[in-house]
Amino acid sequence: MRPWAGLFAAGWIGLGAPALAAGPAPQAVTAPEAKARFAAFLETLRPDAEARGIAPRTFEAAFAGVTGPDPDVLARTRKQGEFARPVWDYLVGAVSTRRIALGQAKAARLAATLSAIEARYGVPRWVVLAFWGVESDFGASAGSVPTVRALATLAEARFRGTLFRDELLAALTILERGDITPARMTGSWAGAMGQVQFLPSSFLAHAVDFDGDGHRDIWNSEPDALGSIASYLKALGWNPALSWGYEVVLPAGFDLARYRENLSAFARRGVRRTDGKALPEAGVASLFLPGGLGGPVFLITDNFEVIRAYNTSDSYALAVGHLADRLGGAPTLAAPWPDKAPRLDKAGLQALQAGLAERGLYAGEADGRAGPKLREAVRRYQIAEGLPADGYATPALLERLRARP
Ligand code: CA
Repeated sequence: MRPWAGLFAAGWIGLGAPALAAGPAPQAVTAPEAKARFAAFLETLRPDAEARGIAPRTFEAAFAGVTGPDPDVLARTRKQGEFARPVWDYLVGAVSTRRIALGQAKAARLAATLSAIEARYGVPRWVVLAFWGVESDFGASAGSVPTVRALATLAEARFRGTLFRDELLAALTILERGDITPARMTGSWAGAMGQVQFLPSSFLAHAVDFDGDGHRDIWNSEPDALGSIASYLKALGWNPALSWGYEVVLPAGFDLARYRENLSAFARRGVRRTDGKALPEAGVASLFLPGGLGGPVFLITDNFEVIRAYNTSDSYALAVGHLADRLGGAPTLAAPWPDKAPRLDKAGLQALQAGLAERGLYAGEADGRAGPKLREAVRRYQIAEGLPADGYATPALLERLRARP
């Protein structure tokens, strides 16, 4: 699992997925103090690295020229993410006509590799390409920050607890194994590496040497990058028999309270795909209305959750899924987005989460993030109140919740 890397990749390095709130600002220190503290941190790291089998020579090579924290990396931890960016805005950037054309050209050039990847992992080429496109614009925006420097800066600052210290040790393990040199191990400011933006721990668990040259090279080898994406998705449970989801139209009077069941049951209830094709006979799906009843309606399968495991954002998962469809020749979404619809900002979502938690309807954190847990809670509340259960959080819903304590 890499619950962080994708967020950093899609949100914090500029592609604009819903991102996380900034962490606490590190204490201001003068450069010599910072360097001394950093050197002390490296000394505490050294025995842990040795215990993991990292040779002193590898350790020295990894930190050659890394003598203090990277101020640019620290500055990024203090930036606010665009948490409440609407899904439709995100899709415009992530699924552009330029990106579709570029992805289709890549698909043609890499057809044989993609066929071999499909055969080995059972993940469709369009999904693999869509990940590649959203994560790094097909390798063009993989980030050029030295990964060891970025991770050491975050680890020393204890940003997000011990997460980055563990990732730093994983990065050293990769260097010890010789998959890449320290100079070529680069990525985002948050340690997401190469064309697939894997954190080092995900690399160790899922990266593959698909071109067979003896190195797992997600930085320079397109077959390795693409194979690693498919390897990751297969490990997380990608079901080759199903798509990620389908845009659908609901019949008049549809009962939204029954929102998760077999695809065949949805078909019997009059749900139709917007592209006119039949829904699959087998498989379970859930209704997903990311803009409420006024916008596009989807049936999403468990493969949608596999994508979300890569980056826990609905917008991200929908962008990958829709881009995959578009790369494969599907038209744009049939239904328009509710562009001017009132939306809750992060504080509003947090207030909604707190209110739903008070009623015993929501068990997650009041983190201001829309996702399956909040959707489920909103649906329960809507059903209890006799409202259409689209699971969509709106200002009106929050007002209603506040008006009836
Ligand atoms: Ca390779």
